[in-house]
Amino acid sequence: MWVSRQESKFAHTCLRKKSQLPLDQHIASRAQTSTRSLIIEEAHPPTVDLHCHLRGAIAPAHAEELAWKHSIALPKAAANGRYCFSTFEEFLTLYDQVGHVIRSAHDLCDVATRYLETVSNQGTCYVEFMISPGHSIANGIDFDSQLAALVDAFDLAQAEFDVFGSIIATCVRHRGPEEATDIAEMCAKRTHPRLRGFGLTGNEHKFHIEEFEGPFMVAQDAGLSLTAHVGEWGNAQEVLRAVDVLNLQRVGHGISVSDEPNIMDELSERKVGFEVCLSSNVQLGASASFKEHQALKMLEAGCLVALSTDDPAYFDTTPNKELFLASKHLELPQARLDQIFSDSIEIAFCDDATKSMLYQRASR
Ligand SMILES: [Zn+2]
Repeated sequence: MWVSRQESKFAHTCLRKKSQLPLDQHIASRAQTSTRSLIIEEAHPPTVDLHCHLRGAIAPAHAEELAWKHSIALPKAAANGRYCFSTFEEFLTLYDQVGHVIRSAHDLCDVATRYLETVSNQGTCYVEFMISPGHSIANGIDFDSQLAALVDAFDLAQAEFDVFGSIIATCVRHRGPEEATDIAEMCAKRTHPRLRGFGLTGNEHKFHIEEFEGPFMVAQDAGLSLTAHVGEWGNAQEVLRAVDVLNLQRVGHGISVSDEPNIMDELSERKVGFEVCLSSNVQLGASASFKEHQALKMLEAGCLVALSTDDPAYFDTTPNKELFLASKHLELPQARLDQIFSDSIEIAFCDDATKSMLYQRASR
């Protein structure tokens, strides 16, 4: 059973501190935040997205289009232009049902291209897509074709929309270490400059993290950077253990570290990156609310945080919207928002030339 985490108390503390400001300063502070949020929403400052599942980026209308094309019945929860779910279990069920509409490499390329075009219009300049080779192989798309489709999508997006990107191949924890090893070995055999990362998704409570040490070593030896979903539902100790056992550079979510300051400080000092997904955490219940999101405490501790979308089509979000939400609800000053952008580039899985180009976007 996956269990929601306890509410963070830190945001309450911060809000209390804010309320201790003289009233005129407090009103001015809120007005500045409000104005800045509107500017973000409308002016589209540069953003990056380091945690975006390709299967989670299929717009509902596109899913209906693909379902019709392949004669696949979609559930009612995916009809009428939006995905409907009210519990985590409903979300997972719907996610798997909709994922079946991607039946060819062309579909994969199309989903990626449409998302990249959409977010590039809002200032996004870099996206890392997490692909799930196991699911796509089950849908009849071999790994070479998956890679070729994503490379085509990124090449097109770079030329047409001025957005750059990399690929993270992920294995699924609850599908076990055997499939994870197969995927790591496929990645090691088929290197490509855009295939930059290897990751672990899925149910944090299935299998011991140590069982994935082998596949992560294979991926690391192949030159891939490493990330894993931990600390979304599991505790801070489990985050630290995963970082150590799998030798992770980044953590997907990892928000439970805010419960244990010693671990949070240690991972901050070790420059471990955190892919933080506000909309996902709030809508699925891992965070009590935007205002109480654990990101605030992580940022205060100096953690390297990258705001990300997770499954943008399901959470009705974009990188621009995540930045807007952080500005509005966490009341982050502009300097902190700028820091998030540069930290995100620092922990991105791309080469130095791409990072230099992305840093320049911020100064335009
Ligand atoms: Zn995710």
